Amino acid sequence: MERLIILGSSNAVAKKDQENSYLLVDSGTRKILVDCGDHPAAGLARAGVTLNEITDLILTHFHADHVGSLPLLIMDMWLEKRSTPLVIYGLEYTIERAKKLLELFDWHMWSGMFAVTFRTIPESGEEIVICDESIRVSALSVLHLIPTIGLRFEFATGKVFSYSCDTEPCDNLLKLAKDADVLLQESAGGLKGHTSPEQAGTIATQAGVKHLVLIHYEARHGEDFLLSNAQKTFTGKVNLAFDGMVIK
Ligand SMILES: [Zn+2]
Repeated sequence: MERLIILGSSNAVAKKDQENSYLLVDSGTRKILVDCGDHPAAGLARAGVTLNEITDLILTHFHADHVGSLPLLIMDMWLEKRSTPLVIYGLEYTIERAKKLLELFDWHMWSGMFAVTFRTIPESGEEIVICDESIRVSALSVLHLIPTIGLRFEFATGKVFSYSCDTEPCDNLLKLAKDADVLLQESAGGLKGHTSPEQAGTIATQAGVKHLVLIHYEARHGEDFLLSNAQKTFTGKVNLAFDGMVIK
């Protein structure tokens, strides 16, 4: 059965019990890692998933709190003797830099290195980034400080999970979140390129979302402040994401 596991829920400055935001989307046949967090091998181990069960890696954008651990993830997969290919998806801006980052570690010279394929998502977005009998993943560009994608996961069961990634409120975010069962919405605050909890509530209301989960928030603001602000503009179910949270 489909599930989404929050591997990290913090904003860019990780906390004692909160890694940077990254997640695993499990459709049964595919295990899709979205961004890399701080220590992906440890985060996945805590979730009961091995590194080499990951079938796909989507990089939402090239900020260090989302992709800084990419070389470590790839090295750990290699050390764990991965033999199956890995597909890495992202915008051209992201993929170009991800390749450069890996090249600094001479990864092509690692003995017995597994195959990695890069799939560039067009800037305009794509209806089908990943598709099989269990899941369909689509991506649209959102409004952050650098080129960034938000994601929509549609499962064969009819369930829909959406992930804003880092963005200001924008039309594409509303499209991604339309009638979703769960919207995982960044709530870093109302700065340029980000969303406040109150704006997150407005998006959830406008998109007709059933369940709003705030992620990438500043924990020092406190749970009451974050939830009460989202509840000013959204009357449905609201939670704060936490590391290890499983959403079904
Ligand atoms: Zn960012």
